[in-house]
Amino acid sequence: MLPTRASYVEINTQALAHNFQVMRTLLGPQMEIMAVVKANAYGCGALEVSRVFIEQGAAYLGVATLDEALEIRQEFKTIPILILGFTPDHMAESLIKANITQTLFSQKQACHFSDMALKLGRKLKVHIKVDTGMSRLGYFPTPKNARIIAKIAQLEGLEVEGIFTHHSNADALYHNYAQQQAVRFVDFLAHLERVGLEFKYKHMANSAAAICLPSFGMNLVRIGLALYGLHPSIYTEHALQQRHLALRHVLTLKAHIVSLKSIPAGRLVGYGEDYYCIKKTRVGVLPLGYGDGFSKILGNKAWGLLHGQKVPVIGGVCMDQCFIKLDSMRAQEGDEVVLLGDPLSGAMGAGDIAKILGIINYEAITMLTKRLPRVYYT
Ligand SMILES: *Cc1c(COP(=O)(O)O)cnc(C)c1O
Repeated sequence: MLPTRASYVEINTQALAHNFQVMRTLLGPQMEIMAVVKANAYGCGALEVSRVFIEQGAAYLGVATLDEALEIRQEFKTIPILILGFTPDHMAESLIKANITQTLFSQKQACHFSDMALKLGRKLKVHIKVDTGMSRLGYFPTPKNARIIAKIAQLEGLEVEGIFTHHSNADALYHNYAQQQAVRFVDFLAHLERVGLEFKYKHMANSAAAICLPSFGMNLVRIGLALYGLHPSIYTEHALQQRHLALRHVLTLKAHIVSLKSIPAGRLVGYGEDYYCIKKTRVGVLPLGYGDGFSKILGNKAWGLLHGQKVPVIGGVCMDQCFIKLDSMRAQEGDEVVLLGDPLSGAMGAGDIAKILGIINYEAITMLTKRLPRVYYT
């Protein structure tokens, strides 16, 4: 089907499947994979992407919010979905009715959720979060907190299905901090086991840890970025290379030239004075702007790829449109320009955008808004 706009995001579903299988190969058949599809599957489209990963054998899907979980649950009735973040107490009912798994890091909330589940004649599945060094959500791994977790495990309305922690620095060159986190978690699990607490799922690794670190006895990994064909850092890329594995490019941002004009010398292009034509300049207008997640800061810095050749983005990026400079290139209205693509093709990659904006790969694709149609191909 043709996209409804002349700018859109193309998603290669075969590359998504390939990347899932790369991680499968790397991790071996015993390790279960949670495909993390939060934030609209890192900009790739939550529903279509979830379908691919379910087909590929994901044991779980991971999201950040209840709304994200519910969107997926409407379409996929049975796949387990874990909310990695907080859900407000007053949303307990829809959480329980939709059979979503919730992350827990508060005894008070555990009691509330349990009561509500009992009222509905159901059980809520939960995973306990442990803070081993990220300093974000979770219980510190102390004997006192082990006793609290034991109390939570006794609540009638809950099924404590899993326990997890999260790495803060697994994509670094040296893994001393990541190792410390892992050891703290493993020691805590051993302590919990001694007091009779066991869990179906024990998990710790994100993409970087799954690529660079051993399993530490876990049986589930939570993979996001790598599935989308991008690396958390050059170190994870290098580590995968050494295993003779490579991720495939997934997401391409395209816009068509909707207007092509020669601008006389002495004119300004776009708002303000970001670009001044010192001579007659051939300019193409693209229907893509910061309202689509193509940041204003990219103006006069980014480039597009037209018929395989680089074309500079000039002037300030507007909310809905931006400009490219064409010089004497072969170009006509309707031609397609790649604004984010496979860097091997010469296109600007997520890494190039990240460098210009001072952000990371994650943000470069996640910031593409829902206004852009997603087009899927194999
Ligand atoms: C987003 C997230 C992940 C996935 O991380 P990647 O680096 O994209 O693999 C895993 N676990 C938690 C708790 C997350 O929030």
